[in-house]
Amino acid sequence: MGVQGIYENGINYTFEEYTKLAKDGKSVIPLTLALTLIKNAQAKHSLASPSMAGSCPRQKAIENKEDFFYDLDMMRFLVRGVLAHKLFEDSPIEGLKERRVKIDTGDYKLNGCVDLIRVKEQEIVDYKTVQKFAFDFKTGEFKEDFLWKQNYLDQINLYALACAQGGIKENEGEKIGKVQITKGSIEYYCFDVSSGKWNHSIHFPITEQSIEEARVRFNAHIKKIELCIEDYSKFTYSDCQPWHFFCKDYCQVSGLCQRLPGGE
Ligand code: SF4
Repeated sequence: MGVQGIYENGINYTFEEYTKLAKDGKSVIPLTLALTLIKNAQAKHSLASPSMAGSCPRQKAIENKEDFFYDLDMMRFLVRGVLAHKLFEDSPIEGLKERRVKIDTGDYKLNGCVDLIRVKEQEIVDYKTVQKFAFDFKTGEFKEDFLWKQNYLDQINLYALACAQGGIKENEGEKIGKVQITKGSIEYYCFDVSSGKWNHSIHFPITEQSIEEARVRFNAHIKKIELCIEDYSKFTYSDCQPWHFFCKDYCQVSGLCQRLPGGE
């Protein structure tokens, strides 16, 4: 069950078949990228992970229970993210980069990966890529509203919970222990520079209260996913209304969603 391979140009390929296609130079994307995406797709994720904070519950339930193939056309944002993270990983930025963490939310035990932890500065930084920034050409004002996504803030608060719990995975010879995080930042990058801006950061405080609120919201969200896994009709297409911007361009299981009970 779960993702079985990659769909390209009307054909479903198993991961082995697609790897061969890429090695023979016949895939749409080059071999190194194909291998990274395949590794990503095949990684065994625990049902709950911090990045699920803003996911459509029905999508996560279907991905968990049904067989499906990744549609390369819908993976553009993933390709963008993989490339950007590779650049950050190799950059000379100071701090703990791409560090694995363990989080106990009370109801769930999660594994996550934090882009950057600045221990001394008590800060967590997350990198995101966006297609383009919103820019009001009439006023010349940059529009920041759409960057303040509750699920992104919750994700970082859950990472801060991991740090407070001593959940940062230590490399050999390291002693990190519990770290109190007081600041969160999201650094956005875009590859469309028509607005004249290619990066922008937002900064926010992290407190015991913000961590607790994120923890409670996250637990409730995962309960919805579990409910839907039990019976799709308990969480229908209409219930997923906040995620509908996602259905057409980003959801890998939109076809299945329509056909399964509760779909439209
Ligand atoms: S098509 Fe929309 S509602 Fe259905 S699973 Fe995908 S994101 Fe959710």
